Amino acid sequence: MPELPEVQTIASQLKKEILGLTILGVWSDWPKTLQVVSHKDHLKIKKTKKLVKASELKKLYKVFCDDVIGKKIKNVSRIGKNIIIHLSDEHVILVHQKLSGHLLFSEWDIINNVPISKKKGVLNDKVNGYIHLIFYLSGGKMLALSDLRKFAKVISGPKKEIFSLSDIANLGPDPFDKNFTFEKFKRRVKNKKGKIKTVLLNQEVLAGIGNIYADEILWVCKIHPLTPTEKISSVKLKKMYNEMKEMLRFSIKIGGDSMSDFRNIYGEKGKFQKYHKVYQKKGEACTRCKAKIERIKVGGRSSHYCPKCQQAAC
Ligand SMILES: [Zn+2]
Repeated sequence: MPELPEVQTIASQLKKEILGLTILGVWSDWPKTLQVVSHKDHLKIKKTKKLVKASELKKLYKVFCDDVIGKKIKNVSRIGKNIIIHLSDEHVILVHQKLSGHLLFSEWDIINNVPISKKKGVLNDKVNGYIHLIFYLSGGKMLALSDLRKFAKVISGPKKEIFSLSDIANLGPDPFDKNFTFEKFKRRVKNKKGKIKTVLLNQEVLAGIGNIYADEILWVCKIHPLTPTEKISSVKLKKMYNEMKEMLRFSIKIGGDSMSDFRNIYGEKGKFQKYHKVYQKKGEACTRCKAKIERIKVGGRSSHYCPKCQQAAC
């Protein structure tokens, strides 16, 4: 799943490409991705719902189109792992790419209801070929969502209503927020009793960290993923605070992590996967102590760590 550096990569690139453009049309062969929020209503179809009436899908698609078509793109930002496209009329589109979704900026032809990339090269890679949503923009430009697993969500509505959704309202502070001091980080982590890996993944404690960066940060700081937060010293927490910011900044610089399906808006891979020390490295030698990397489940999520240099208690 795209984490802070991947989502930031997309938001920064979109900002360069789509500001000032107007949404002229929307194509989708999977309107279940779409949701529309208004001050009275939240129109969506449960992803797990197997039997959906064609009329329900048609209505959702129409309401979404009515909500966004004709609006101008004023800004693009990131909140946690969400991309926010700010439109005219104080409207926004929230995109959460979930497991395998990624936004692409290019041009497609729709042939027999299947989008075919007009451009050659990386956009023809399989991972960029699961297009289920296209925004037609002014100037002949297009913004599409490629999503193999179809878990992504795209919500439109007035900014006020969207920002009140739990997707945004319940998020903890961003690691790059100016006001997110070490004292705040320490307080939030210590107040949340539990295993450090689980606490780092909790978006209400801190927004933006997922499985890859949590495992890598814990390795750098020599902290076992099962360590209870109250047992971590202030010195180690300080190191974690600093290393986390440095790692996220470095990953943004090299375009994020493409171990899985993530691609930037041009369909290209990031490079952070080349720097993994533990994530998906089970059985390989730790670069620090040569012990074999292990994998365990923590709170239902795979966690990779070195059993020798990440000891069980601090
Ligand atoms: Zn080690």
